[in-house]
Amino acid sequence: MSIVSVNNLTKIFGPEPQRALDLLAQGWSKKKIYEQTKHTVGVNRVSFDIEEGEIFVIMGLSGSGKSTLIRLLNRLIEPTSGDILYQNQNIVKMNAAELRSFRRRRMAMVFQKFALFPHRTILRNVEYGLEIRGVSAKKRQEKARSSLALVGLDGWENSYPDQLSGGMQQRVGLARALANEPDILLMDEAFSALDPLIRKDMQDELLDLQEKMKKTIIFITHDLNEALRIGDKIALLRDGSIVQIGTPEEILINPANRYVEKFVEDVDLSKVLTAAHVMRRPETIGPDRGPRVALQLMRDSGISNLYLVDKSRRLLGAISAEDASAAIKENKTLLAIATRDVPTVRPDLRLNELFDVVSATPIPVAVTDESNRLLGIIVRGAVLAALTGNAEHINVEGDADA
Ligand code: ADP
Ligand code: MG
Repeated sequence: MSIVSVNNLTKIFGPEPQRALDLLAQGWSKKKIYEQTKHTVGVNRVSFDIEEGEIFVIMGLSGSGKSTLIRLLNRLIEPTSGDILYQNQNIVKMNAAELRSFRRRRMAMVFQKFALFPHRTILRNVEYGLEIRGVSAKKRQEKARSSLALVGLDGWENSYPDQLSGGMQQRVGLARALANEPDILLMDEAFSALDPLIRKDMQDELLDLQEKMKKTIIFITHDLNEALRIGDKIALLRDGSIVQIGTPEEILINPANRYVEKFVEDVDLSKVLTAAHVMRRPETIGPDRGPRVALQLMRDSGISNLYLVDKSRRLLGAISAEDASAAIKENKTLLAIATRDVPTVRPDLRLNELFDVVSATPIPVAVTDESNRLLGIIVRGAVLAALTGNAEHINVEGDADA
């Protein structure tokens, strides 16, 4: 079940939003509505579901509505229309007290320029949220210490913010949000101000943290690479509307329209796509079959190699049509004639590395898991087709049945 469910959420900035809302319903664009009414469409009839434990990335250019959308979710900005369900409670209907408690305990915001108090130690900065909630000193120190440890800042409790680097300060902001133990973290361009290397470290740390804590994270960025790196799902915003929602792969491989295509066209597919994306279903045969059956199978399906697998689909070898013919004459078993040196790769091998393996072998490369089970095969043409962006040749879900 989704933890957050957003339905038709809209924000119009201006004194008479109803009129702009009507015009939106009539199909007017954000630009035209602004020209005619001086009302700004911040977010335009947006709907999506967020699953518990996922990193949901909202991506878009500056002014596309990202900050407005994330602030609508905890009503730092009041919606003009639409619903936001959190575990079936409608956030839009909450009174002030319910909303305060919701923001503290359920959805905590990690700000980009988190205002750390310069005169407070790191520990006391992290305690702050608990302090205003009236949590006892002992309890809040305990929680603050453990959330500092989570972000790798144990030992820095008694330092002051100006003694820490930018990346470390950002972690304090994260620890402060974590100390409240919210179900959902909201992060609005939280890493955008960091320089690239530190930023990559922070992304890795967030992924680690996610692995450990299984928090639901709603993460805003204008950076496609950041979105692709950390997102389980990405929603791409343009002029306040969602143009596409999908996994990073779906967005890269099946862009919904020309706009998304333009957005992703500079991504190097060979570094994103893996063997699983281009593998095909192999024709297999068991070792208890004879060479005649093997030959017949190859003729029927118009192929020149069969993969020999045991009952658990573990790869035993490959058989060519010539091998099978010879085996018939010499009265040998498939196991006896099979080639053992089939080149194999793992499903997560990137295409840029796969390319060398594929071009060096006469038989299709086998894709196997850790137990040597055959998952698929890679035919040479499929790699090239995928790299030239031919989506028909890519398995979006990574299965070989395409
Ligand atoms: P992003 O975070 O993607 O850069 P924003 O959500 O800040 O975009 O802005 C979305 C749109 O809403 C922009 O056109 C912006 O000018 C407008 N906007 C944001 N906040 C306000 C506001 N308080 N009053 C009027 N317009 C606003
Ligand atoms: Mg913004």
